[in-house]
Amino acid sequence: MRRREPEDRREQLLRAALAALSETGIEAFTFAEVARRADVSPALIVHYFGDRDTLIEATFRQLVERVTTRPIQALADGTSPEDRLRAFVLAHLNPGELTSEASRAWLSFWGLALHVPALARLQRVHQERMVSNLKHELRGLVQADQVTRIAETIAALIDGFWLRAALASAWRPDVQIPVDWIFEAIDRDLSAARLADSDRPSTQAEEQFQTVNPATGEVLATIRIDGQAEIDKAVARAAAAQRDWARTPGVERGRILNRAAQLLVANNDRLARLETEDTGKPIQETIAVDVLSGADCIEYFAGLARTISGEHMDLGSSAFGYTKREPLGVVAGIGAWNYPLQIACWKSAPALACGNAMLFKPAELTPLTAIELERIYLEAGLPEGLFQVVQGKAETGQMLSRHPGIAKISLTGEVGTGKKVMADAAATLKVVTLELGGKSALIVFEDADIDEAVSGALLANFYSAGEVCTNGTRVFVHRSIREAFLARLKARTEAMIIGDPLDPATHVGALISTAHMENVLGYIELGLQQGARLLTGGKRLTEGDLAKGAFVMPTIFTGCTDEMAIVREEIFGPVMSVLDFDDEAEVVARANASHLGLAAGIFTRDLARAHRVIGMLEAGTCWINSYNVTPIELPFGGNKQSGLGRENGKAAIEYFTQLKSVYVAMEPIDAPY
Ligand code: NDP
Repeated sequence: MRRREPEDRREQLLRAALAALSETGIEAFTFAEVARRADVSPALIVHYFGDRDTLIEATFRQLVERVTTRPIQALADGTSPEDRLRAFVLAHLNPGELTSEASRAWLSFWGLALHVPALARLQRVHQERMVSNLKHELRGLVQADQVTRIAETIAALIDGFWLRAALASAWRPDVQIPVDWIFEAIDRDLSAARLADSDRPSTQAEEQFQTVNPATGEVLATIRIDGQAEIDKAVARAAAAQRDWARTPGVERGRILNRAAQLLVANNDRLARLETEDTGKPIQETIAVDVLSGADCIEYFAGLARTISGEHMDLGSSAFGYTKREPLGVVAGIGAWNYPLQIACWKSAPALACGNAMLFKPAELTPLTAIELERIYLEAGLPEGLFQVVQGKAETGQMLSRHPGIAKISLTGEVGTGKKVMADAAATLKVVTLELGGKSALIVFEDADIDEAVSGALLANFYSAGEVCTNGTRVFVHRSIREAFLARLKARTEAMIIGDPLDPATHVGALISTAHMENVLGYIELGLQQGARLLTGGKRLTEGDLAKGAFVMPTIFTGCTDEMAIVREEIFGPVMSVLDFDDEAEVVARANASHLGLAAGIFTRDLARAHRVIGMLEAGTCWINSYNVTPIELPFGGNKQSGLGRENGKAAIEYFTQLKSVYVAMEPIDAPY
């Protein structure tokens, strides 16, 4: 006898709940009624759903997913906008889904949505999604000013049809009449508003965004935003491609990834320039780090692809067991703007090595190099659909987090975004990996090599103009070496060259945008207001051509206290706060007094102290006598609110695979009955 799996059980309970809602209505909807229909005890329903409202919401959520699966598939299959439009409408009216039971439950859902906010949200998202899909296809068919009207009319007809089906006792024989009528109405509308062939295609301004070089203000490209229809299609394509990829031996997957790594290296200079233009980072960084570290990561996981394996468990002579590591399916990566290409590689390399397909959304501010990565993967022989870049803003990211066809989200971004993504992903219980912000501590003990510690502090604060998540922006310096440390720090900071990011001599380029620059300048102002003293920097640079860009001087504050906003909050710009300390226990407690725990670093010559202190620091990624070095071999990620899970190293394999446990009987079953 097979034990009923929890997922089956949940489905069974939801089916029983739907039947109860449809037949007895909301008033008589009780756990006891659902339990009776499912032939289980009411306690089991409480175990799965907790309370009645949660059960009702889950039932309707499942109904919404059920009725939208076929229409979305129809969109993916159609070859022209008109075909897709018809297939989409027909799929919504498909008698297989539109059962009497489903339509009656649908009617209850609409009624309840008037009073229950969670259901109202669910219903709104469903309707917006339907209208957005219709609009997307209509844009290729009719005049722009007619798109919304026709989309809304078709959506209303579909909704009306469902409600009528719920109310009519013998609706089934009539099904063809309203369907025909809807298509006649669509045809009438289409022919009246049809676009002249010469007018197509018609991408609307609100469907695009521009990416700008933050050092010059020049527009680099206009990018089309992917909406729900594109995401649905991309997921369907990815799922189809992933089925074969999962069966491709690891060694073959590794060979393709290796070719991609080689192509990245071969294109290093061109890609580094593009990254510099899109991010404002100095070319001396992008040419040495951004592309090559991405290639390094792909090469590393190319090697690991053939080693992914499970374990064998000896269970005595009667049986043995083994585990297999299997891909998750279609996964999504959402990237931040500070290391666009590197982040795309860090996410896609383990995902692909493990046999998944990946949809990747770069940050809207830096969309360009991910597109190049997609081309490189294709050129390397990666089958189409396995790595697809989707473009857009937060809404596009949200469509990924919420998509039922996506099994995992790996986000690099702010803490607040991480929380939203996790909440969105919860509805479909996706695996979530979060690489979030930090406010990390760098501790310089009295026995440190001061020049080395100053080098560490500079790298920990001004590399990439301070736009690095792991930056050690709280620099704790032992009071006894404070003056010597500050003198060297100031001199070396003031010798840094700030300017044109494309000039190989430049150390500090532009911040990502003028809006972000204003934010950073706001923190500098706040630091001064709260009593911190400026050791150097503190201003925007506007001489000559610099006025066109977002340039801020590397800035160092002294006289800082733990309560100041510049010491507590992530600024993500070139702003260092120096704090004094007297003893080890004190500095460890202060370093740990943050809700974030991404990284930490210490400088000391005392090895015993180094390991003791690192052992006490609440941070996921640590350095001893160094800072911000991230070799691919070492897992990378944060503790506390800085993140969940790890990227890089062998650890990443765990986050892009799932375990299957297999029991193998070697002797006949000893059946007790
Ligand atoms: P954001 O959190 O603003 O954005 C990150 C990505 O998430 C972008 O692609 C963004 O799209 C997208 N996004 C925004 N809102 C949502 C949403 N509700 N649902 C789904 N996706 C969404 O971060 P930034 O781009 O501003 O990057 C800076 C932050 O990233 C800093 O906090 C930094 O510390 C952190 N970071 C962490 C790293 C780590 O490894 N721990 C490494 C690098 C950065 P869009 O940009 O189009 O709005």
